[in-house]
Amino acid sequence: MAIVTGASRGIGRAISLRLATDGCIVALIARNADALAEVQAEIEKAGGTASCHVCDLQVSAAFVSTIESIVEQYGRVDVLVNNAGMTRDGLMLRMTDEDFDCVINVNLKAVFAGCRTVARPMMKQRWGRMINITSITGLSGNAGQANYAAAKAGLVGLTKTIAKEFGSKGITANAIAPGFIETDMTAGLGDDVRKSVEGSVPLRRYGQPEEVAATVSFLASQDAGYITGQVIIVDGGLTC
Ligand code: NAP
Repeated sequence: MAIVTGASRGIGRAISLRLATDGCIVALIARNADALAEVQAEIEKAGGTASCHVCDLQVSAAFVSTIESIVEQYGRVDVLVNNAGMTRDGLMLRMTDEDFDCVINVNLKAVFAGCRTVARPMMKQRWGRMINITSITGLSGNAGQANYAAAKAGLVGLTKTIAKEFGSKGITANAIAPGFIETDMTAGLGDDVRKSVEGSVPLRRYGQPEEVAATVSFLASQDAGYITGQVIIVDGGLTC
């Protein structure tokens, strides 16, 4: 069974649908109960199984108890996909401590709490997959995103550390760094930015959420059993 955060829309929705198609029971986590119920209905319509768990990842204690109740419900957890993310952009000189903290809480601190919570049941099973969605911004930085870039870079160090601490227990940890993917998060950037990005991406287009989901599907599979501590870039060649 798999837990997916940020499952209500965008990349998390696509990951949830894909893992369900792969045969996983999927526990869907986000704040918007109605949107989660729609994803659950889509999964069930396609013959899969999913459950909805409303949780705000700003509060890591709430996330921990949500995961604990999911593990109790299903008796195991095979895959954790830390996908939920948010931005609160602004140039550093104008960025408040609150803007910094809330982006770090959701994009980095919750991921630490989530991985720590699933580690014990995964160790008992001697099998587990932790997959953290970072960003090319975490690898290269981006003006106006000091908080987001710091959180996403932090995920790279966290993922590599988990790989080293838990590899001997049969647990792998990997990160995926998407470039520009067509979701609500990039919709706000506008047409001019899109045209300019598409001009610089070797594949000449934004990526689709399903293309990130396919990478998650592979990393969650038996076939990826010897891959750990890696950052897989899914960006149409933008940073190559
Ligand atoms: P999105 O469309 O904005 O969706 C964000 C998801 O995160 C939603 O399901 C949202 O659910 C959830 N979320 C946000 N804040 C939350 C909170 N406090 N508690 C619980 N859930 C929360 O974003 P996306 O484009 O799919 O991005 C998914 C991941 O990919 C993020 O980590 C993002 O940083 C990363 N990424 C995206 C791109 C891109 O181009 N789109 C590029 C690089 C990396 P609710 O609103 O229902 O809570």
